[in-house]
Amino acid sequence: MRVSKETVVGIEYTLKDDKGNVLDASTSHGPMEYLHGASNIIPGLEQGLEGLTAGDTKTVVVQPVDAYGEYSDTLIQRVPIDRFGANKVEIGMRFHAETNLGMRVLVIRHVDEQEAVLDGNHELAGKTLHFDIKVVSVRAAELTELSHGHPHQSGGCCGGGGCGSGEASSEGGCCSTGEASEGGCCSSEEGAASSGCCSTEQPVAQKQGGCGSGGCGCSA
Ligand code: ZN
Repeated sequence: MRVSKETVVGIEYTLKDDKGNVLDASTSHGPMEYLHGASNIIPGLEQGLEGLTAGDTKTVVVQPVDAYGEYSDTLIQRVPIDRFGANKVEIGMRFHAETNLGMRVLVIRHVDEQEAVLDGNHELAGKTLHFDIKVVSVRAAELTELSHGHPHQSGGCCGGGGCGSGEASSEGGCCSTGEASEGGCCSSEEGAASSGCCSTEQPVAQKQGGCGSGGCGCSA
């Protein structure tokens, strides 16, 4: 079977930048499954995988415009330090916030006595990404996967054939005791808000949708 719309594809990958530095690799979290054609992964990678079959290997080079966008100075904000109240403010802290581009992860780049500098650029913004890919599996997606817009493991939404707590999953949602966020998966943590997934440390190739290594694994 070839990688095409409505197939669930498993890939192993190593992601490098222009200089050959390894940014991410599936060896650290296992092969990644995604639903092809559902914007689970960045567009440039999805296009590069189209038509491959299990066992194929390929290097896919993705320009920023087809990955995480160009680096934008307009996503840098200076915020008076008193706006944070009593909250601790440290360089490197991340949080989600609503911006004029929608929900973004903001990172604190600089702090002094007057202000904090927040950066809403994705950490891979502006970078050309080099993926060394091996396709490990291609299968037809299940109907529930198509309706959820992400792959499931072991035939179930949450890996075990059902939704964890035993509660019926809500519309498009999965396993959550909190409100399922966009993408419908598994977390009551705010970290899931924009990515719809169980972890803020999801594989970088994965844009939204499925969780972890292909489904609503939700170990987080
Ligand atoms: Zn699901």
